This record gives sequence, C-alpha cells and structure tokens, in this order.
Amino acid sequence: MNSVYRPLSSVLDVVETLIEVALPPHCVSCSAAGDLVCRSCRELMRRADGQRCRHCWLPSDALVCADCLSQPLPLRELRSGFVYDGPTRGAVLALKHRGVSEVGRLLVEMSGEIRAAPDIDLIAPIPIPFLRKRRRGGNQAEHLARAVSEQSGLRLDRGALRRRGWWGPRQAQAPSRSARRRIVAEAFAADASRVEGRGVLLIDDVSTTMATLSEAARTLLAAGATVVDAWTAARAE
Ligand SMILES: [Zn+2]
Ligand SMILES: [Zn+2]
Repeated sequence: MNSVYRPLSSVLDVVETLIEVALPPHCVSCSAAGDLVCRSCRELMRRADGQRCRHCWLPSDALVCADCLSQPLPLRELRSGFVYDGPTRGAVLALKHRGVSEVGRLLVEMSGEIRAAPDIDLIAPIPIPFLRKRRRGGNQAEHLARAVSEQSGLRLDRGALRRRGWWGPRQAQAPSRSARRRIVAEAFAADASRVEGRGVLLIDDVSTTMATLSEAARTLLAAGATVVDAWTAARAE
C-alpha cells in the first residue's frame, strides 16, 4: 500500500511547501503578522524542564514518580520540549491540523539540543493512518522527526513502525478503558528487519496519557528493538 501512494504523497508535499512559501507568515498562535511563532508567544511558551520523573517526564520530586514505580512504562524515558499549554498548544495544533509543517522544525529548534542516548540507532515517528494523514496534509510526527534527525544526525526510518488500517479506530468512542486500550494495542505494526537489535527514539507531537507511546514501544520491543526512548515537542501535564 505504501509504495503505491508514495508518489502522490510526494506531489502533495511539494504543493504544501509551495503554499507555505507563497504566503507571508502569521503567528500560528495569535495570528500576528511577521513570524510563524511571534516573539511574545515564544516568551509565553513554558519549557518542560525542572524536576521531573525520568520515565514519564511529569513534574516529580522523586527521580521516578509513584505511577512509574507502580506501573513501569515500556519506554525507558520520555523527554519533551515544552509544556502543552498557551502558545505551544496553538503551535502543535497548527502543525497537526493545518499542516503547517515548518512549525515542526521551529519547535525542534526552539527546544534546543535533543540528546539521544548512545544506544539509540534510529528515529521513528509515530505513524497516523493513511487517510488521516492526507486530510491533515501530512503527519505532524514526521515533520518533527525529520528535524530531530537533521539536528542529531540519527537516521530517520519512516518504515520502522506503521499504522494498521486506512483511517484508524476512533479511540474516544470506545465504550470502556479496556476497549480503548485494546484498540490502541492493535494500532501499530513494526518491521522486525529494521528494528531488531536496534535502539529506537520515537517522536510525536504531544504526550498526554502515554497510551500511544507505550503501545508503540511495546510493538517495537516485541519486534526485537533493544530499547525505546521518546521525544515529544510538548508534554501535557
Ligand atoms: Zn503570537
Ligand atoms: Zn513517571
């Protein structure tokens, strides 16, 4: 399926880029003319730093929070650039729903140096279902992953993890927590030939409940990945 649609995907990527270049930038958060993220919005963006749990990256006085102690994540560690509120939310939503791909690069740049552990071999964006990707004008995680790859020199592998299905299940409509979890559990497939014996850095736009990142990590580990870390542009607290 992927190989058939790749040419169409490339053409649409080029059209998207041309539109972005042709239009003068407006702040994706407050609409002020001039920059993609204006100076006052940048100042309001809160960095996801300070004392945090090394696994789930939520504020925590302890090195590992109580939740991660009682229910360890399949991920070794998550790191995030910003707290998901204020203008960061506007930037992430513009990247996600309006296909403003350049915001991805900007969020990575503004996050500073993203240091992957020495045992990480490749970068894998969290994939979204094909039809959702077309409607959104791209996958927000891929835009971020490309920028992280350029910054870190780590190889980007878009084929390491793929999404099952064309549209994907509607998680929010599932009747119970266990049903939602089962739906997420069926969402991903990993290519063992690409990940076996390798360390993977997952990339996504925002981490909220950790359900998606955890399931992607479980899928990669089951396919033979040695370790899975994650980086997201924003962390919901
Ligand atoms: Zn602004
Ligand atoms: Zn934690």
